[in-house]
Amino acid sequence: MPNTKRKAAIVGAGLAGTTAGLGLVNAGFDVTIYSDRDRASLRDDMPPTGTAVYFGNSLEYDAEIIENLYDVGTSTGMSVRIFSGSGETRTPVLEFDRPFNYRAQAVDTRLRADDRLGRFLARGGQFVVRTVTPDDLDAIAAQVDLTLVATGKGGLSLLFPADPDRTVYAKPQRQLLLATFKGLNRADHQFAYRSSDGARHNWFTIHADFGETFFGPYLHKDAGATRAFIGFAKPGSPWVDLFKSATDTQSARDAVVKLFATYFPEDLALVAQLEPLHEDPHSWFLGAVTPTVRRAVARTKNGHPVAAIGDAAVSFDPIGGQGAQNAVIQSVLLIRALREHKGKITYEWLWDQFNTHWDHRAEAATEVTRLFLGDEKYAAHAELLFPAAAVNAKIGSAFFDFLSEPRPLLGIQTREQIGKFISDLAGETAETVLARFKAPKQFAQAKAGDRSLVST
Ligand SMILES: Cc1cc2nc3c(=O)[nH]c(=O)nc-3n(C[C@H](O)[C@H](O)[C@H](O)COP(=O)(O)OP(=O)(O)OC[C@H]3O[C@@H](n4cnc5c(N)ncnc54)[C@H](O)[C@@H]3O)c2cc1C
Repeated sequence: MPNTKRKAAIVGAGLAGTTAGLGLVNAGFDVTIYSDRDRASLRDDMPPTGTAVYFGNSLEYDAEIIENLYDVGTSTGMSVRIFSGSGETRTPVLEFDRPFNYRAQAVDTRLRADDRLGRFLARGGQFVVRTVTPDDLDAIAAQVDLTLVATGKGGLSLLFPADPDRTVYAKPQRQLLLATFKGLNRADHQFAYRSSDGARHNWFTIHADFGETFFGPYLHKDAGATRAFIGFAKPGSPWVDLFKSATDTQSARDAVVKLFATYFPEDLALVAQLEPLHEDPHSWFLGAVTPTVRRAVARTKNGHPVAAIGDAAVSFDPIGGQGAQNAVIQSVLLIRALREHKGKITYEWLWDQFNTHWDHRAEAATEVTRLFLGDEKYAAHAELLFPAAAVNAKIGSAFFDFLSEPRPLLGIQTREQIGKFISDLAGETAETVLARFKAPKQFAQAKAGDRSLVST
């Protein structure tokens, strides 16, 4: 019998490519994934693309692709602290610690992708190790019904020019240091000075002038329960040089400890217990992302339509934790539409799908990223929502709802709309809520555990 299955080709086997690949195989497609690395190299010879926390909603989308395989890396809330100044002028600005209205999960992208690839192969998917060039892409696209480009931020993404109407920034807004650590046991009482749920709350510690840090539970592909750190240095911040002092797992760990010793010493007793993952030399990296929305559907030189997914379509500064979530949701929406659509997959049809995704998620995800970057457009949000979150638990939790479901943010833009958001949640006027806010004199401090502090 002739093979009547629709054929798909996917270039790139990161989270986006493997998610779409498994989803398309499950939807009855005959799928080939092309990857510039073999399976072992994807898992062991490169760093994770990011921490890739799924906040709430995206876990439900992901469940349409693959069952939940992980019970480590879950977080249940966020402890926020903001400081300003340094040295003698160092001042605590505000803090709040709030539970999420959902569950969040941080799993090594290399593990997520490998698990997807394993299932993809078991269900008959084909995996070809080959670096695909634009000419190859043309030949590949000529033979299949659907071609997806999932090559991440570089490489073939350049076939899809940036969309000036949807792209806000021309350069990176933060220099990044990502690192994963072991050594800090999940001793909940040690975290109690910051968190109502012990080690299960992430920390988001902000220096108003220099940048931000994220620190939270993480499932490393080999080491298991660990903690992930991401530092976000603003341009010109002294953190940029501090991050650049990281050249390997040990110096990355030392840079993080030095950062906390200098700027956030309240947490040092815990942070000093972190140990590098020497067994994974790729457990850290330096980076920077220019947040870019691409014209995500293109034609190859002979006119075959190809669509970008994941970072190849939209790349985000990671401060709002949107990239991996966006990749999964884009793939799921596309596969849902393909299950319904039995006609030819045309350039126009692919554009309709990307525009649907833009309206459904990607636009709001870019806006929530601007909110967390402290973009001028969101100055009133920062001014009102942070202190409101500090005095009202519901507002604090609702603030983090934007990470899971960013769309409501599009309707909360003016000062009046922010005021209404606050008063609807608090049951009293925004002025009354904000009048209760008092800046803290100092923040509670971690106590040294059973290990001595490591000086840097
Ligand atoms: C520091 C940091 C923290 C982050 N934290 C979060 C978070 O908390 N939440 C969240 O949702 N997102 C987060 N992200 C974003 C998230 O990690 C990415 O959006 C996601 O992993 C992108 O997956 P991808 O498959 O699109 O790209 P990639 O992972 O880059 O995969 C692309 C693949 O294509 C391959 N490839 C490239 N060119 C070719 C070619 N020509 N031929 C064949 N193969 C090719 C590459 O080798 C690679 O394997 C973070 C990102 C960073 C940098």
